[in-house]
Amino acid sequence: MTQKTCPVCELPVNPGITLCPQCGWDFPRVLGTPEVSGKLLQQKLEDAKAEWVKRGIQPVGELTSRFQGYDLILTWKWPKDAELVWICHRHDTFPTKQKDPKASVAVCTRREYERNLCWTLRNPQDKPHYFAVYAAKSATGPFSPAAQIMECMGQLAEINYRIVKRKRFILFGPVASLHISLKTKADICLQALILVGKRHSLPVSPGDGVILKEIQNVQFVRGKAVVPVPPEHWSRELVVRLFFAKPADAKNIRLLHGNTDKMRLG
Ligand SMILES: [Zn+2]
Repeated sequence: MTQKTCPVCELPVNPGITLCPQCGWDFPRVLGTPEVSGKLLQQKLEDAKAEWVKRGIQPVGELTSRFQGYDLILTWKWPKDAELVWICHRHDTFPTKQKDPKASVAVCTRREYERNLCWTLRNPQDKPHYFAVYAAKSATGPFSPAAQIMECMGQLAEINYRIVKRKRFILFGPVASLHISLKTKADICLQALILVGKRHSLPVSPGDGVILKEIQNVQFVRGKAVVPVPPEHWSRELVVRLFFAKPADAKNIRLLHGNTDKMRLG
C-alpha cells in the first residue's frame, strides 16, 4: 500500500485521507485556480507548521511494538529536546490523558533508552495493550501530545464487518437507516479509520475510491461496534470498505469485509 507523509507533523498516513489523525492538518482539496490555491495552500501549510512547533514538544516518532519471548518491546524515535517519556497503558482502550487514573505508567529516560535501544515491559498480561507515549523535556514537563499504539500480544485481531440496511417498512420503502456493523472477539478500540467507496466493486486500497468518512475512536462493547454511514451516501451506487488512517495500525488488526453484496450502499 502506498503511503504519504503529513506535511505538518510528518506522520505516515494513507493517501486520500483528508484529516491527519495526529496534528489535525486538513489535507487540502484543490480550490480555485492552480496558482491561487497553490499560494493559499503554501500559506496555510506554513501557518500549520508554525502552530505545530508552537504546541511545544513533539510526540515520539515511528512508535512500534512487538511481543518477543516473555517481553513486550516498544521502540520510537526521540523528538528534539525530549529527555524522557511517560509510557501509559491500559487493556481496554487508549489512555485518555497523561494522568489517566486507569492507566499503568512507566517512565523511561533518554539515557536508559539509548542503553538498550528499546523499552521493555516484562511479563505483560495476555491481553491487548493500548499504549500512549508522552515525550517531555523534564520530569515536570511540558509534555507532548500522545503517540499511540496497540499491541495484541502476537495475536492478530480479526474484525468482520458489513453494511446493515433497514427499510422504512419491513421489505420495501425508503431506507430508514444504514450503518456498518463490526464484530470481533475482544473489546478493542480502533483509533482512526477511513470509509472508502468505489462504483461497482470493492476498493483495493484507500486511493482506489473516494473517501466518504473519517472515523475516530471506534470502541467495541461486548465485541460489537457500529459506524453510521452519512445519509447523503445511502443511495449512491458504491461498494464500500474500511481502511486504517495510519498504515501502522494494520500490523495487529485485520479488517475483513463481507462479500461485495454485503458492502453495497445503494
Ligand atoms: Zn499531521
